[in-house]
Amino acid sequence: MAVPISQAWTVATYVLGQKLRGRKRYPLVLMLEPLFRCNLACEGCGKIQFPDHILKKRVSAEKALAAAEECGAPIVSIAGGEPLIHPEIEQIVDGLIKQGRYIYLCTNALLLERALKKFKPHKQLTFSVHMDGLKEEHDRSVSRDGTFDIALKAIKKAVDMGFRVTTNTTLFNNADPDRVHEFFDKMMETGVESMMTSPGYPYEKAPEQEIFLERNRTKVLFKKILGGAKKEWRFNHSPNFLAILKGDIEYDCTPWGNPTYNVFGWQKPCYLLGDGYTKTFKQLMETTEWARFGQHGTDERCKDCMVHCGYEASAVDDSFSLGGAIRMWKASKNMHKPVTFTDEEEHLYAQLRADAKKREEAKAGASACCSSSKDMTSGRDELIAQMDRGQADLKVSADGADR
Ligand code: SF4
Ligand code: SF4
Repeated sequence: MAVPISQAWTVATYVLGQKLRGRKRYPLVLMLEPLFRCNLACEGCGKIQFPDHILKKRVSAEKALAAAEECGAPIVSIAGGEPLIHPEIEQIVDGLIKQGRYIYLCTNALLLERALKKFKPHKQLTFSVHMDGLKEEHDRSVSRDGTFDIALKAIKKAVDMGFRVTTNTTLFNNADPDRVHEFFDKMMETGVESMMTSPGYPYEKAPEQEIFLERNRTKVLFKKILGGAKKEWRFNHSPNFLAILKGDIEYDCTPWGNPTYNVFGWQKPCYLLGDGYTKTFKQLMETTEWARFGQHGTDERCKDCMVHCGYEASAVDDSFSLGGAIRMWKASKNMHKPVTFTDEEEHLYAQLRADAKKREEAKAGASACCSSSKDMTSGRDELIAQMDRGQADLKVSADGADR
């Protein structure tokens, strides 16, 4: 089982309770972003491009805990930025545990080994470590050499100390299924509890735009990656969500399933889009035009999105119906069976690989001949340069502006 029975039971009783109360829209996972400041600058990140005065803000422990109470979701994913930089991260974690919530503390693990002494292993606390592939792929994705080795060492230490640890992997159109399989093997060997994976979302603000996948390409790539999955690979996803990625099941997004609270307030409509903010969770639920979003909505930005923060809640909600339970049983049964590809799928996959190769070659050529070009200097490049010079302010001081 990918999660402890107590967690599965907590989630199951919560969802059943919502259904018995007749609530059509309910939150499943609170995405708590207590700050946007990070000590990395990944190529597909849509969170770190805020101006410096925003990056210095943080949500206080008091407000973070109040937001969790207000929302009521049984699971809290503490994202960011890098949450381990937050000066009150221990108080946030302790408070959420006392509230009875299951926490996924998302981290790039650069500070994890040092931070472990601040926490005690607990069934409600999991470190969800950002790992985008084997050493070569991960270090390239986070734009920093050596990051993979640091994260791997921290994962092993956390596992040895008895912490729950999962990995969180975002895949882009340059993912090579064979390398991803090797990566899954390696992560399971380190003793992580389970793995999460999702296609990257095409954030408008992300520095690298050409790496994102469109819907049909996502499905064929994930069919190559997840089709005939090894029995040893444990995923922290509902089987129905993995089936969505492979194109076996169609769901629409559930944007209210993973509501987001950050330094601006409650973000409309979802973790990925920022169309304004509300002061209260109730206002978020009551004033967002939900019908505009998702695969069948009118918002173009949802067209290619298959990210877990939108679709996992759809899969979980469906599994509480008879039809959904049957779909889940079938998805689990088929997970390890070999898959076949139609000619059309093979053609699409060949195109995907060829396009990714062309982009890699063009990028290598561009960086060889134009590395000093002003056009290539983005905010991310500047942040990396500052970090290299030790000048980036990576601390959010205790007197940092609160919202
Ligand atoms: S680790 Fe990378 S993806 Fe995560 S917040 Fe930092 S820069 Fe963004
Ligand atoms: S489809 Fe994606 S971008 Fe659109 S609302 Fe859902 S999670 Fe957000």
